[in-house]
Amino acid sequence: MGMMDQDILKVLYTEKQIAARIEAMGMEMYGALKDKDPLFVSVLRGAFIFMADIVRACQVRCDVEFIAVSSYGNATSSSGAVKITHDIQQDITGRNIVVIEDILDSGNTLHFLKQYFMTKGAASVSICTLLDKPSRRTKAITADYIGFTVPDEFVVGYGLDYCQKYRNLPYIGVLKPEVYSGEE
Ligand code: 5GP
Ligand code: MG
Repeated sequence: MGMMDQDILKVLYTEKQIAARIEAMGMEMYGALKDKDPLFVSVLRGAFIFMADIVRACQVRCDVEFIAVSSYGNATSSSGAVKITHDIQQDITGRNIVVIEDILDSGNTLHFLKQYFMTKGAASVSICTLLDKPSRRTKAITADYIGFTVPDEFVVGYGLDYCQKYRNLPYIGVLKPEVYSGEE
């Protein structure tokens, strides 16, 4: 038992469940992407663990890039304005982009990124998200590949943080309410 487990109210997806789901997603994506020379773009920091697992589950010839964005707002919800804090390092003209994201929530981040990559000349932009929280969507955007559809709860682990912590939990769970005390 690690020192962070005591902060978890409940586990939504175990390490084993996540691995099994990613295995299946990888096979589905392989079928769709094998002739597309895809460029996988991971959204930092939340998707870094998912990225490592999904590219190995999907054995296509591909390259990888990382983009970092920040959205203004408090720790558990975003306000809408998205800013790129680290951009990809190559020309993407004519490329088939697959954005790898941890969670699709309001849709602000992925709506912005999809436009951004299309403007830069991508041939296509598809979206692969480990988690989808459709109940909170404010932008008309759907993912092409979804790991799990989650209820309207703030989740941590497997890359997802609360105040930059808990990213290294191997499972996805919900924090105990007392952990949030202090946030407005
Ligand atoms: P969106 O732009 O779709 O509202 O949100 C995307 C980002 O908000 C995600 O990449 C993630 O960083 C953060 N986010 C949204 N919901 C959750 C959640 O339940 N837990 C955590 N840790 N982050 C979330
Ligand atoms: Mg994120």
